Amino acid sequence: MFITFEEFVRRAGAIRARMDVACALAGRDPLGVELLAVTKTHPPAAAEYAARLGLRAVGENRVQEGVEKRALTTAAIAWELIGHLQSNKARLAAQHFDRVQSVDSAKLVQQLDRAAAELGKTLPILLQVNAGNDPAKYGADPAEAGRLLEQALAGKNLRVDGLMTIAPLSPDPSVARRTFANLRDLRDRLAADFGVPLRELSMGMSGDLAEAIAEGSTLVRIGTALYGARE
Ligand SMILES: *Cc1c(COP(=O)(O)O)cnc(C)c1O
Repeated sequence: MFITFEEFVRRAGAIRARMDVACALAGRDPLGVELLAVTKTHPPAAAEYAARLGLRAVGENRVQEGVEKRALTTAAIAWELIGHLQSNKARLAAQHFDRVQSVDSAKLVQQLDRAAAELGKTLPILLQVNAGNDPAKYGADPAEAGRLLEQALAGKNLRVDGLMTIAPLSPDPSVARRTFANLRDLRDRLAADFGVPLRELSMGMSGDLAEAIAEGSTLVRIGTALYGARE
């Protein structure tokens, strides 16, 4: 049984409270951190709940699942791809998602740019960086991020909003915190080098949103704490 809307509202309130505490500790304005609802594995109602609450967007980590779910709802909400994207699905992703956060290779940049051109749209993207140097995670090597950004900025049909990362799984919160600090430092350096704002720092999930906000996250991606455990 999927959770009720009332339960969803209660959970969202609890997450907002955690976000507010983290913002207060960091001396940040809570309006500067967006809550992205991660609806993967959950029914279309998950996106409808998020829309009713007034959230801007939901996140899905698989192209096919996101496309199918989106077709089953009229929820007025944006859909963002946050999971690994294979280049043979680039066109489908460009067509059905409002932003792709998981762009981590030159090949993907090229294919998304071409697909967006054919679709006559500008596709907003984030570059996913493996800022925790975790062998288990996707994302560009931080040392390659400059080159990848250069290629993405050259894509006439792409708009680069910022960077995204996933922290390594660790019982030690300082591991996530260091990963997020790395991403922010990298962003600051790239923004200065290329003269672009790269405003968005998509970092933080249910277990590490406080560390992410402390290090400058502008968007936390929350699944479990909003909708419960995935099967
Ligand atoms: C599943 C997922 C999340 C949400 O994780 P929770 O721990 O359930 O909050 C965030 N980001 C990405 C990339 C994910 O795949």
